[in-house]
Amino acid sequence: MPHSAPLSYDVILIGAGPAGAACALALRHSGLRVALLDKARFPRDKVCGDAIPGPALKALRKLSETFYEELRALQPRADTQTSRLVAPDGGEARVQWQLPTFSSPRQHFDHHLLNLVRRHTSTVILENYAVRDVHTDAHHATVLPADGSAPLTAALVIGCDGANSVAARKLLPRPVDRNYNCAAVRAYYRGIQGTDEQTTEFFFLKEYLAGYLWIFPVGDGTCNVGFGMVSDQIAAGQVNLRDTMLELLGRHPELAPRFARAEQLTPVVGFGLPLGGTPRPISGPRFLLCGDAASLIDPLQGHGIDTAIESGILAAAQVQRCFAKQEFGAAFVQQYDREVEENIGRKLTRSYRLMRFFADKPWVVNAGFRVARQPLVKKWLLKLVG
Ligand SMILES: Cc1cc2nc3c(=O)[nH]c(=O)nc-3n(C[C@H](O)[C@H](O)[C@H](O)COP(=O)(O)OP(=O)(O)OC[C@H]3O[C@@H](n4cnc5c(N)ncnc54)[C@H](O)[C@@H]3O)c2cc1C
Repeated sequence: MPHSAPLSYDVILIGAGPAGAACALALRHSGLRVALLDKARFPRDKVCGDAIPGPALKALRKLSETFYEELRALQPRADTQTSRLVAPDGGEARVQWQLPTFSSPRQHFDHHLLNLVRRHTSTVILENYAVRDVHTDAHHATVLPADGSAPLTAALVIGCDGANSVAARKLLPRPVDRNYNCAAVRAYYRGIQGTDEQTTEFFFLKEYLAGYLWIFPVGDGTCNVGFGMVSDQIAAGQVNLRDTMLELLGRHPELAPRFARAEQLTPVVGFGLPLGGTPRPISGPRFLLCGDAASLIDPLQGHGIDTAIESGILAAAQVQRCFAKQEFGAAFVQQYDREVEENIGRKLTRSYRLMRFFADKPWVVNAGFRVARQPLVKKWLLKLVG
């Protein structure tokens, strides 16, 4: 930590991924002393599919047209026009996206987002700052660094530290529920036959229906290829995601010839996805949780960059309400939980029900793909998945 950095702030954001960066951007005019901490030094990798959902860009654009324009200039990236969905029986449907959306490696996207914070806010950014513990009392929140140096204090702490959040573990401990968790693996490839930069592809597989395999072009001829499933089904089927993905790429009737001459650029690596779909507390005295730390990933599609950004922005609004009223207690901050439930949670609950409905019915999925080619059904589906 730089010697000049203060030890006391109004707000401390733990984690500089999409949730933390969006919260810092949304606090830019608040006049509050904000610190944004991350254990990594950016640019850093984040295991992800790298598809930046349209609503993520829309939320940042609502904050500022400049943020949007600067993000749209990001390189490398592949602008997505269409998604191709392949059913277990090989039937396919295509979705034409209405909101502008792109895929770009998180290493670049998150770095770019953090640079927006650097350029457009007076946030104190502390990289290489791993948090070991967080606690709150009647007077302040205290953040303890892993290196044993002096703790930081603030009136409010916002946990944006992802799927293995220290903030969530310390401030709102609850057991991991495999029904509301997913795991996924990914690797970068080059030279896959038949890809097109503007089309993301999803393959639904009979044996692994509560999940899918994806191919997302991310620019420069590179594709992010991954495979994920709900954790209870991984445990029930003893599925090794890495081996299964490599095996599928070698034997699936469409994928095998397309991958025959492809070059795998990186090892297959995995990470957890804490799913939304059931209302749960995400705040308490002097703290709020955002993004993956608040378990806000869409259970049907597996995206969470949009909900991380949206919840970060909602948290910033709550932070400003707290300072305006000088109220930091559990009852007052609960307005944040209600807003997240209203704006994000309800959609996630619908997605969760759909995911569970389809999970054991391959024939419904196959039939659904045929019906989905009808223009009216297509329109309805598009509305449903955003
Ligand atoms: C395999 C996979 C594929 C996915 N594909 C997609 C996709 O294509 N599109 C999509 O929208 N979503 C996808 N997701 C979900 C998406 O990655 C997350 O929802 C999103 O990153 C959440 O953002 P966040 O800011 O909450 O957390 P993160 O992006 O995880 O950021 C958390 C930050 O906190 C920091 N941190 C963690 N612990 C500490 C600590 N103790 N001290 C200090 N800092 C800490 C980390 O270094 C990190 O920078 C995928 C997830 C996985 C695992």
